[in-house]
Amino acid sequence: MVPSLKLCEHTFQVIVRSAELSGSRNLGSSNLHDQKIILKKELPHDVMCSTLLHEVMHMVADLNSIELGEQDIDNLAIGVLSLIRNNKELIDYISKEVV
Ligand SMILES: [Zn+2]
Repeated sequence: MVPSLKLCEHTFQVIVRSAELSGSRNLGSSNLHDQKIILKKELPHDVMCSTLLHEVMHMVADLNSIELGEQDIDNLAIGVLSLIRNNKELIDYISKEVV
């Protein structure tokens, strides 16, 4: 897992740990104020990736004061994960700095 990620003007620390997260069914958590994303250590790779994107979608929503339900967040995360995984050329194209 990456140690941090940049999102807009923010840098979020990404922490993977086995400690209990609030709520027994939570796979991850995030906090805009602390600028931290916490992921459960025991997650399989695919679930780790979708959970990270789920938490990123929460941060995007929070940064823009958009109220979304957990299902909305999940659907966005799954869509973005599919986009990233299936469009490497697009990701390379988008990632290029404009000069
Ligand atoms: Zn959530």
